[in-house]
This record gives sequence, C-alpha cells and structure tokens, in this order.
Amino acid sequence: MGFPARRLRRLRQSEAIRGLVRENKLSAGNFILPLFAVPGSKIRREIASLPGNYHLSIDCLVEEAIAARDLGIPAVLLFGVPETKDEQASGAYAQHGIVQHAVRALKNTVPEILVITDVCPCEYTLNGHCGIICNGYLDNDASLDLITKITLSHAEAGSDMVAPASMLDGQIQAMRQVLDSHGYQNLPIMAYSAKFASKLYDPFFKEGTHSTLSFGDKRTHQMDFSNSDEAMREIALDIEEGADIVMVKPALFYLDVVYRAKQEFKMPLAVYDVSGEYAMIDAAARLGRLDRDAIMMEALTCMKRAGADIIITYFAKRAAELLHRNERSGDTHSGRDVLEEEWAI
Ligand SMILES: [Zn+2]
Repeated sequence: MGFPARRLRRLRQSEAIRGLVRENKLSAGNFILPLFAVPGSKIRREIASLPGNYHLSIDCLVEEAIAARDLGIPAVLLFGVPETKDEQASGAYAQHGIVQHAVRALKNTVPEILVITDVCPCEYTLNGHCGIICNGYLDNDASLDLITKITLSHAEAGSDMVAPASMLDGQIQAMRQVLDSHGYQNLPIMAYSAKFASKLYDPFFKEGTHSTLSFGDKRTHQMDFSNSDEAMREIALDIEEGADIVMVKPALFYLDVVYRAKQEFKMPLAVYDVSGEYAMIDAAARLGRLDRDAIMMEALTCMKRAGADIIITYFAKRAAELLHRNERSGDTHSGRDVLEEEWAI
C-alpha cells in the first residue's frame, strides 16, 4: 500500500503525536559528566576551549557534583590535573594524589553520585604518554604494571567504577585480576575499548589536563580512525577479559562503529562525546552559524539512536537542564514544546 493511502506525515503533525511515536528519548540518567580536579581551594577556573567546564579544586568539585546530581545526572568521570609530573606517573597512584583525594571527598559528601575514575597515566607523565616509554616506544607490559597500581589506588580511595583509557593490550584482564585479588570483585570496569587516535582530543589535552607529548603521537596504541572491523576485535577482547561496559571514543564521527558495536555485542555501551566535538559546536554557535542548544540535543540524541546507552559529555549539565525544563513545563498535554520554541527547530 503506497501513496496516497500511506502518508507518513500523519504522525508528524504536532509535538504530541511526534512525542508519542518517538523512538529514542534522551534522559539525564544516561549522562556522565567529566570533571577536572586541581589542587588548591576555591578554584573554579573555566577551561578556555570547553566553556562551561572548569578546573575545580576539591571543594568546588563537590559543589559541581551536587549540581549534577540535582539535575538527575547519575555519574561523574574524574580526571586529575596534578601539580607535578614525573617519568613514572607516580602522581597517578599516590595515596594522596589529586584523584584519590577527590574520590574520597565525593564519596563522603555526595555518596549517591557514581564516581568513575579515568585510569591512564598520561596526565601524570612528563612526556604526556600513556605509560612507560622504552626506546621511544610505549612498552605494553611494563605499562600494565603501572595501570594495575593506578587501578588499585582508585579502588582503595573508593572509586565506584574504573575506566581504563590507554588502549594497552591485556589491560582489562590485568585490572580485573588485581581488583579481584584485593577484594574488589564487585567494582565494575568501563573499558575505553575502541578509542581512536583522534585530533578531536586536542582541547582536552591542551587546556583540560595540560598534557603535551614531548615526542611522537599515540598511534601505536590508539586505533587508526580508518578501521571498524578492528574496533569489533578490540571490543570482543575487552568483553572476554572482563569489561562490564564497553566504549567507543570519540562519538560523532564514529556513529557507524557505535551502531555496529551495539548490534554485534548487545553490551552496555558508552560513547565519549569528546572535547573537540564540544568545541566545534561551541565555536560554531559563537560565530552565530549554529544554534548551540538545538545542535547539542540533536548530536546527543543521534548518539543514542546509534546505540549508545551511556553518553559521557561536557554538555551533560546543559542538556539535563533543558530536558528538565521540558518535563516541568506541563505543556506536554497540549503538545506545546518549550524546547522546540526556544530552539526554533
Ligand atoms: Zn592516556
């Protein structure tokens, strides 16, 4: 049966009817907000390339986590910006390191928010690399020892979930073993399984964590952005090694990979909507070329449509705010959509 009996536009006539048949709906409950902890107190310094995101001393970080919780965001992903760095990334696993300190403060004051900790040495190494360098090459197995030390220190500080970001071979297995042998059998691992070597991370490293590579690049451990079959192999291995949640990073240019990952593995799937994606939308909005909020909601919804269950995003607070305002408007009965008007979709 075709046209004129079949008219797909019948179900698009009003927001009420579009809402009724909408296949994917965003929820603040899907978001994870990345947070950057810095030493000191009363520090709330905006990150130039990620406006609306801040370097936060622990007192301010706690306030930010409370604000996130009040918006219905269930989890934060913690990064540390240490005062000093060294060859061995010792700040990454120090008992009183910046992240360990932040985890304890968060769990003491906002216990209901999930504290996920990023496990990678690169914010703590002088050379900016994700592990131990031998003869100019990232030594996989030596770096695994470092990763397990960091993992254990996060667990001991009270982290609710560890998220290894360095794309080393065997890292999930190594982490699972160290956690299990120290009584942390119930601590989940969210694996950065298919993390591509992308220039979209630049704002994060340059201004987010003040990391600069002293030589080389990360293409010997992060994935070639040309590959998608290989991403499936990475994800399969991480699942085999014990990953509880798998991830594709970045998100927007990689939605085909997200779609495949969901179809093939049916695992809880996260995407990381990275700093460059945020910066692109923000910059275009500042130029008056794009509507920031509308594009933000479109981008996040499309990640969900592709198959993401969890979205790690610098937009988390703004998006949650808009979702709540829409719910609270009470106009859903009449089909009038506040957001639709505000965004001029
Ligand atoms: Zn790293």
